[in-house]
Amino acid sequence: MKEAHPEYDLIVIGGGCAGLSLARLLIENGSNLRVLIVEHRDAYSDDRTWCFWEKSDHSLKNLEAKVWATWQFSCADDDIYSHKSNSDLAYRCIRSASFYKHVQNHIDKSTHLSLMMSVRVKNIQENAKSVSLTTDRGEFCSRWVIDTRPLRDRVVKRPFGQHFLGIEIECDQDMFDDQVAQIMINMQQDEYGFRFTYLLPFSKRRALFEETRFTRSAPEEVLETALQDSIKKKMKGVGFQEHRRERGFIPMSCNTKPAQQNSRIVQAGVAVGAARPSTGYAFLRIQAWALECALALSKGAPPTCQTVDPAWMRWADRLFLKVIEDPSNDVPEIFLALAKRMRPDHFVRFLSDSAQPTDLLRAIYALPKRPFIAGLTGMPRLKPVSR
Ligand SMILES: Cc1cc2nc3c(=O)[nH]c(=O)nc-3n(C[C@H](O)[C@H](O)[C@H](O)COP(=O)(O)OP(=O)(O)OC[C@H]3O[C@@H](n4cnc5c(N)ncnc54)[C@H](O)[C@@H]3O)c2cc1C
Repeated sequence: MKEAHPEYDLIVIGGGCAGLSLARLLIENGSNLRVLIVEHRDAYSDDRTWCFWEKSDHSLKNLEAKVWATWQFSCADDDIYSHKSNSDLAYRCIRSASFYKHVQNHIDKSTHLSLMMSVRVKNIQENAKSVSLTTDRGEFCSRWVIDTRPLRDRVVKRPFGQHFLGIEIECDQDMFDDQVAQIMINMQQDEYGFRFTYLLPFSKRRALFEETRFTRSAPEEVLETALQDSIKKKMKGVGFQEHRRERGFIPMSCNTKPAQQNSRIVQAGVAVGAARPSTGYAFLRIQAWALECALALSKGAPPTCQTVDPAWMRWADRLFLKVIEDPSNDVPEIFLALAKRMRPDHFVRFLSDSAQPTDLLRAIYALPKRPFIAGLTGMPRLKPVSR
């Protein structure tokens, strides 16, 4: 059968964070590639709050919903550790609804990019000079494809990761210190693994409460019960209204494979390593990938895949995950030790993409030694990975 002539230079499967981040940067870089983004959803909603540590001069500053200069960790109410950076490094939040709308507006004005909603990609066929997509809205053909579909569409085995459920509420009276993000509070451990509450106060009355578990499986009702309990404990009888919910799973795994080389199909997003394995933070890594990929495409090069972390970071993340997944270890104590003994800027770098080997050394110094020494048994030797 004759190969179809590609109508697009690039089709992006999935108009979520990765797909739209790339679209935004292609437009900003003046790309004249013919790009189609196909998105399964019928419409966007305010389905997630993306938070990250960053200085004030980042490129999405105009979309920030809230910035917290101070952030906290605790196991119990009387054992709270607060961090505040010496620089303007702060915990910053972008609501997905603002981001989706911002990029949609850019796309609407673009003559080269288009976004098609309510399209489910069913099959991808790589040919010699093009890629054919079969969708529930017909066939499409492109020179390149970037596939950002999440894991659940592709794997059966349950990976380790963060399961969470959040509710944004508005209270009848002032209840929150809106200058402080509570990143990991009430850290505990039970039969479903390590858990904590994530509390983001947007104002003195409005906050997102999120119940998070690091585990392979967390039943919805377990998350719901724990979430209602932590809201009840904090509200102490004060009335509130529920505004919206968000839920999700972020994989924490070192086993995501880099995209195949010499293929016209490049995978991107959390499904293929955009989330830092030991922390699940993905937003900034996606922005970094999108920038690199947009620059490559704008120069006529093929799309790029997510940068593979340095060997030392992958090895450290693998050990860290092994230790925190072991139910015999006191995981709350491990996170509290990091919060207590590391300086805020070092701690943030350790959690984020800009970690240096020296941050790892500082973390090793801060961490309890026994679980990590025990975890070394059976660890592969540290070796470099190629892209
Ligand atoms: C509720 C929530 C909160 C998060 N908060 C943070 C945070 O604070 N900080 C942080 O760093 N990370 C956070 N993350 C992790 C990460 O940043 C997000 O998951 C991010 O959205 C991942 O981007 P992505 O493009 O890989 O996936 P998505 O944004 O999920 O995009 C994938 C897209 O593919 C579409 N799709 C799926 N199947 C098909 C198909 N067959 N055909 C066409 N389209 C399809 C989906 O509808 C979706 O829009 C959060 C994740 C969630 C779920």
